[in-house]
Amino acid sequence: MPDHFEDMWRTIEPLGRAARSGGYFRQPFASAERELDAWFVEQASARGLRIESDPFGNRTAWWDSGSGPGVVTGSHLDSVLDGGAYDGPLGVVSALAAVEVLRDRGFRPARPIGVSVFVEEEGSRFGLACLGSRLATGAISWSAARELRDRDGVRLDEAMSSVGLMEEDPQPWLSSEQLACFVELHVEQGRDLVDRGEAVGVASRIWPHGRYRFDIAGEPNHAGTTRMEDRRDPMLTYAMTALAANKQARLAGQRATFGRVETAPNSTNSVPSGVTAWLDARCESDEVLASLVESITRQAGERAERDGTSLTVTAESVSGSVEFDPHLARRIAADHETGDWPVLPTQAGHDAGILSAQGIASAMLFVRNPTGVSHSPAERAETPDCLAGVDALAETLERLAS
Ligand SMILES: [Zn+2]
Repeated sequence: MPDHFEDMWRTIEPLGRAARSGGYFRQPFASAERELDAWFVEQASARGLRIESDPFGNRTAWWDSGSGPGVVTGSHLDSVLDGGAYDGPLGVVSALAAVEVLRDRGFRPARPIGVSVFVEEEGSRFGLACLGSRLATGAISWSAARELRDRDGVRLDEAMSSVGLMEEDPQPWLSSEQLACFVELHVEQGRDLVDRGEAVGVASRIWPHGRYRFDIAGEPNHAGTTRMEDRRDPMLTYAMTALAANKQARLAGQRATFGRVETAPNSTNSVPSGVTAWLDARCESDEVLASLVESITRQAGERAERDGTSLTVTAESVSGSVEFDPHLARRIAADHETGDWPVLPTQAGHDAGILSAQGIASAMLFVRNPTGVSHSPAERAETPDCLAGVDALAETLERLAS
């Protein structure tokens, strides 16, 4: 007998959790994430679902029924470094549980229903978010992606081969011909639903998002003997840049974060030779994003001139604004016993955004997160809200696959 939501949740909860912080380390193509992948295959098989796997590590478990392109739901099982329990796995566990709810009700889908898991959604290992769904849809070519390296210098194709992937010739395969639509359930990564007093909401759009590398070069020297006025210290340029980014974003009602910094030689008694820092910026429109990053770059450049350092800014990835199919969102959100579900934008990227940008009608359901915190061990969703999410997803799949 397949497990229900809470049993499934209890099984996966300890996988990849750090004893010290309580946060999750589920990097793609490494042990904890592979255990979750094996768990998914086991759960799908126990439910008699047919598993389709691609050479990149993405999987879809099919409830074969009816005909025509499928209605697919799902999410991801990887996490950021020291991340929360819900971001990703909530969508996968809820999808399996929703299939169970529909089967218990005796529902016969008029078209196949699929449960998908996409690899490396967070970009926490290879630096490019939604890598699995980008590869599956051809949004990035394999020849470009295979050269990506992790922090230890391991190339993507090497990491995939090490866990038995890439045995076939990799080709994009996911298109609107196989998928009538994709619905991703996800924990909310903010406080909109808390403020509205609602357990479940529907996404309208995803803000554009960019990641930019700031390389600042200075002059390495002795921390004791070098007079303050003789220094060319890249740490100062970085510090002012981080402050400027915060202020600019705050004034404009947008988002800008420096969350990763590397300094060389990383020595307490040296003026550093260089600092590399990564800016994550998200804005309400493509134009606002471009102008925010331009303004931060200009201020960083002015400060570099003053510090005698040099600055290079490289855009590592920029994803444009994604509008989810408004017809689909309205159809999902409208007319429930409890009234319409709220429709709200999100500042976080998702596989559903990649599929939508590739012409596959997509939508998202959000489940309330009482802390509003995400990408952190403090991320939460209460069990009654999770169960409301499963019901909402089951109802949605029933509407779409009838
Ligand atoms: Zn996620």
